[in-house]
Amino acid sequence: MSATIIDGKAFAAKVREKVATHVTRLKADHGIVPGLAVILVGEDPASEVYVRNKGKQTLAAGMNSFEHKLDAGCSQAELLEVVETLNADPAVHGILCQLPLPDHLDEEEVINAIDPAKDVDGFHISNVGLLGTGQKSMVPCTPLGCLMMLRDHHGSLSGLDAVVVGRSNIVGKPMAQLLLGDSCTVTIAHSRTKDLADVVRRADIVVAAVGRPEMVPGDWIKPGATVIDVGINRVPNGEKTRLVGDVHFDSCTEVAGAITPVPGGVGPMTIACLLANTLTACSRANGLDEPEGLTV
Ligand code: NDP
Repeated sequence: MSATIIDGKAFAAKVREKVATHVTRLKADHGIVPGLAVILVGEDPASEVYVRNKGKQTLAAGMNSFEHKLDAGCSQAELLEVVETLNADPAVHGILCQLPLPDHLDEEEVINAIDPAKDVDGFHISNVGLLGTGQKSMVPCTPLGCLMMLRDHHGSLSGLDAVVVGRSNIVGKPMAQLLLGDSCTVTIAHSRTKDLADVVRRADIVVAAVGRPEMVPGDWIKPGATVIDVGINRVPNGEKTRLVGDVHFDSCTEVAGAITPVPGGVGPMTIACLLANTLTACSRANGLDEPEGLTV
């Protein structure tokens, strides 16, 4: 059997198109332009590429993009002042602080200083609590993208066994909450899980968010299961490097019913969901209906 490839790149393009259509309507009907502000501290090349990409895609969706760059040595107070200014700015509907921050800065304090209504990353403690209690929240972009692809592939997820490998605050835990919200029977596995292979073998849905190249082999996968590979790992490839996921793609493809590739799976959905979250935040801020299908 060869798994259906879930094309995250094509799905993300559809999400971006949907966002752009709503943005055009918001402008025409209400004169409102959603705005996303990204804060970047320091000059980490990978973060700079991410931020540039986010800016480009924000503008392409017809939204305003604001970029705030601070020196790597900036103080916590300076960073918090930027957050406060953006919280108070009515043209800014979404605020994202590019992580990780330099070691001397307190990430948690910065995240929790962002107005929860503008917290398009969904990392603020209020949004974490709202998601955990099944209330309307800002949902973290990567798990939101995974859920959208799963819903699209399966229709209803109700009653399916889901195993999430990884328990980080940004992927594993919110992913598990979303699957629970869709009535899956959810197991969260991590580095201390016993007999991980057997745990994964029970799953109708496997979400791998570990950060270990090709850790999940095909013989851990139940025949016909859906495999969502969140991992992005750069590994040597001759003199160059290549990207691989947390799942061993070739062996899993032989067993799974459907699988996301790396690259071209979860990755493109993350930025698309950031745009979707910005639109959702803007709609809520203006008391307008939320666009359907772009949040949970
Ligand atoms: P973290 O390092 O924060 O978390 C990794 C999790 O994996 C931890 O819970 C850890 O367990 C668990 N883990 C580590 N080793 C094992 C093991 N041998 N067996 C079982 N579980 C293990 O990573 P993130 O959640 O931030 O990211 C995970 C991956 O997803 C990375 O490759 C990252 O690059 C990628 N990513 C991709 C995104 C995208 O847009 N596609 C966005 C965000 C992340 P424990 O808690 O016990 O240590």
